[in-house]
Amino acid sequence: MQKFSELNYISPDYEKEKAALLKSKEGMANASSYENFRDLWLSRKKADQYLDMLTDLAYIRFLTDTSDTFYKNTVHTDSIEEPQIRLLRKECDDVLLDSLYIEGIKAEFGDKIIQDMRIRRSLSGENAVSLQLEENRLCIEYNKLVSSGKSKEARSSEIDDLYNSMINVRTNLAKSLGFDSYIEMAYRIQGRIDYGKEAISSFRSQVLDVITPACAVFEKERPQDNSVPIGAVGNIVHTVKNIFHEISQESSDFINFIYDYELFDVESRLNKRPFYCCCMLSHYKAPFIICDLKANGNDALMFIHELGHGFAFYTAARSQKLFEYHRSTVSINEVHSKTMELLAYPYLELIVGEHKDNFRRNHLYEALRYLPYRCAIDEFEHKVYENTTLTKSQRCELWSEIEQKYMPWRAGSNHESVKRGTSWYSQPHLFNAPFSYIDYNFAQMSAFEFYGRSKINYQETWKDYLAFCSKGGSTNYLNLLAAGKLVNPFSVGAVADICAPILNELYG
Ligand SMILES: [Zn+2]
Repeated sequence: MQKFSELNYISPDYEKEKAALLKSKEGMANASSYENFRDLWLSRKKADQYLDMLTDLAYIRFLTDTSDTFYKNTVHTDSIEEPQIRLLRKECDDVLLDSLYIEGIKAEFGDKIIQDMRIRRSLSGENAVSLQLEENRLCIEYNKLVSSGKSKEARSSEIDDLYNSMINVRTNLAKSLGFDSYIEMAYRIQGRIDYGKEAISSFRSQVLDVITPACAVFEKERPQDNSVPIGAVGNIVHTVKNIFHEISQESSDFINFIYDYELFDVESRLNKRPFYCCCMLSHYKAPFIICDLKANGNDALMFIHELGHGFAFYTAARSQKLFEYHRSTVSINEVHSKTMELLAYPYLELIVGEHKDNFRRNHLYEALRYLPYRCAIDEFEHKVYENTTLTKSQRCELWSEIEQKYMPWRAGSNHESVKRGTSWYSQPHLFNAPFSYIDYNFAQMSAFEFYGRSKINYQETWKDYLAFCSKGGSTNYLNLLAAGKLVNPFSVGAVADICAPILNELYG
């Protein structure tokens, strides 16, 4: 592989791509043996992986220089062609699902790939297409509205109308696909195969019992923010490399790879999107990290967070045969990144010097105080999609009740504005990715667990974390947790057990 800046971009010939997909679909349907079928399937996947890499490469180059008209146009073309390509890929998947050779594929590559194809199939249907387009349109409208510069009050009723339409469209969509409600459909979209509503509801009540009272105490002596200035961005880049060299041999090899191939763009610039993300170039088994670093401590940890995603992907890509297994769902992917932040704690002095103890405390508390908020959002969504006829004021009243339950410290002066509905509108997950926000809480639990264990035995914890990363997204949520020897966060008492060392550290 060359350095990122030297990677050659060749515009895809979409007509050729579509013809090739049709050809492999036919080939697979008429395969003469398992070996023949398998080879066709794998070579199609290789072509998919290459095309996805081109799309991602163009997208990265666009994000890091939005004034580049070539990549701007390329990203536009890719977005127009994408639905067609996706449809053809799904048709190939359908051939596999209906094939005699499915058992052979399962035996060789695991059940997860088949399960995911079945999920995608259950989420698509002829009658659903127009509703899905309408859902996309409403999401675009929402995003336009929130970035329009209008005040929260001014856009409040427009946002509520959009939310109303989204709830209706999604409910109809779910019904058209045979689900009882959109909640069941959303769980399927999240890939929640091995746990359901009861597990999540029990998790929320554990957070309410354990975390809400703890936060109520800490809120009284609310820590300051963590934007400790730490010199130039160049220093962060240098220091973070040193930290990865310290953590382990594997993290050291990884960071050398990232720096040698220039797989990051972290400086803040004109014409660069102020984004934090980790893109994955599966074809090269290489991540690419985009940050918008200001010279402060928090940003250094955000860079480490994105590198955590990158490390997991880099590791899984070298252990898993299928690129679909190189990453997982948010509930797992965010364990990778959030844990890396916490595993960097012993080296905080390199970043913030004498501020390290206060900095750690603030950072840890920030992670804790999001738990009740995300549960509130999740409970709110469940109620909203269970009662799809709620009016705007009923929804605001509902949010106000739920917010007071999970975050009683928020009640008071701004309570009236909460009732008027200017608060939860700013949580984009409610609009763009319903029922997904609580996944960050599940991930936080596992990250806390790894951290608690690392304080007792850092080396052993690193080994478990490495095993967990190697598994990528090759199996279901609970199996992946088991690979890292992690507790099921839904089991009785799990939240209290996992958070005990965190609360002790914060009380200490
Ligand atoms: Zn992340």
